[in-house]
Amino acid sequence: MMTREFNYWLTTFPESETPTSNLPEKTNVVVIGSGFSGCSAALELAKAGTSVCVLEAETIGWGASSRNGGMILTGLKLGPETLISRYGIERTQKMFALSQAALNTVENYVTGEKIDCEFSRCGHLEMASKPAHFAAYSRTAEVMDKYFDHHVEIFPRQDQSAEIGSNVYFGGLLDKTSAGVNPALLVRGLAQAAVRAGAQIFEHTRVQKIESTPGGVAVHTNRGIIHAEKVFAATNAYLGNFLPHLQKRIIPIGSYIIATEPLPDSLAKELIPRNRMVFDSLNYLHYFRLTPDQRMLFGGRAIFKPETEHTVRESVPILQRDLLKVFPQLEKIPLDYAWGGTLDFALDNMPHTGRVGAIHHSIGFAGHGVAFATHLGKIVASQMLGNPVDNPFEDLPFRQVPFSKGIPFYLPMIGWYYKMLDLLF
Ligand SMILES: Cc1cc2nc3c(=O)[nH]c(=O)nc-3n(C[C@H](O)[C@H](O)[C@H](O)COP(=O)(O)OP(=O)(O)OC[C@H]3O[C@@H](n4cnc5c(N)ncnc54)[C@H](O)[C@@H]3O)c2cc1C
Repeated sequence: MMTREFNYWLTTFPESETPTSNLPEKTNVVVIGSGFSGCSAALELAKAGTSVCVLEAETIGWGASSRNGGMILTGLKLGPETLISRYGIERTQKMFALSQAALNTVENYVTGEKIDCEFSRCGHLEMASKPAHFAAYSRTAEVMDKYFDHHVEIFPRQDQSAEIGSNVYFGGLLDKTSAGVNPALLVRGLAQAAVRAGAQIFEHTRVQKIESTPGGVAVHTNRGIIHAEKVFAATNAYLGNFLPHLQKRIIPIGSYIIATEPLPDSLAKELIPRNRMVFDSLNYLHYFRLTPDQRMLFGGRAIFKPETEHTVRESVPILQRDLLKVFPQLEKIPLDYAWGGTLDFALDNMPHTGRVGAIHHSIGFAGHGVAFATHLGKIVASQMLGNPVDNPFEDLPFRQVPFSKGIPFYLPMIGWYYKMLDLLF
């Protein structure tokens, strides 16, 4: 089979049509976007008896939520030491605790809502791409133990074959609490749960403009206007220009994935014997895992630009070259699928929740959104319901991206900067 430019996860269940109905004239809350953020918020709001309409420009879960690596990881994009130096111990402890709670939230939705999505607490590995990175793991483990009461294991290069069939790394760090999932099934399951709880989801309904009105807002879409008291913008980096306050603060960066054909049992076991989720320690990192049908799924930034048809095509030879460096054993194994999606980076690499007038947001997951987007969607819903919530990501300084108007022209330069850092350190 030729490499198909298509998201493999979408081949794992039959296509289904969601019936279309007319938009109501009004609702309590409009949620924009039907990814993890939008669906978990809609589920919580509907469970609390609020009328909620989810407006999705494409189809359910169309954005990053159906396209990602399905790695549900502990922690944040930034390491514990960086977080502590920036936010102090107390706030970092809350952030880390929230990352653990986020994993539990996903697991509780999966079990409570009976979502069949291949969820498994398989653990994750961070593999050291350089000896100095491995040396730093001991300090990370110490900090995790001391301040977060969280235990990770470290293994040196000579023992790594028990975890990975590659000799390009210098040892690794194992966190047994992380999980893996089929993300496209998870987001569909959440959407179904939201609908069961009473939310309405409207596909092919693109929000074009939001206007303030005396009682709240008028949300203009390609299918008419809907009035609401509040809005939750759960758009991720697929922002368009109708939310300029968010657009100015988010850098959209593509992430790309290739998937091989299913591997023979013995080869799959040689490459990732314990079926963990894996990523390396570079800034321009790679992440990889086996799918439940034993394909090697291998992703990375590849090209430092937002995802388009062209960048997906350009990323294939780059990712394939990098895959073979890690696992030369795959040289003769064909690639079946290649696809991409867009990540939402804030300048500080942190998630941000907040509110401007009647419009709430939760954004900036920087490649850690499976658990975070789901959990913060739930938290924002609770805040919208007026409940007091201790949320360490609420109102963090959220700086504007310099010269931001859509896609920053200097994005490739940032890419080169990170590549240089990876060469030097
Ligand atoms: C290739 C890739 C790999 C990744 N791997 C991982 C991983 O392994 N682990 C991890 O934790 N995270 C990963 N991530 C990040 C994770 O997928 C995201 O952080 C998460 O899915 C964000 O969810 P969301 O609901 O906020 O946004 P999305 O799922 O992107 O949903 C936003 C939705 O809003 C809709 N929308 C936008 N504008 C409008 C509008 N005007 N009107 C109506 N609808 C609109 C879009 O169509 C879209 O469906 C990855 C991301 C990518 C792209």
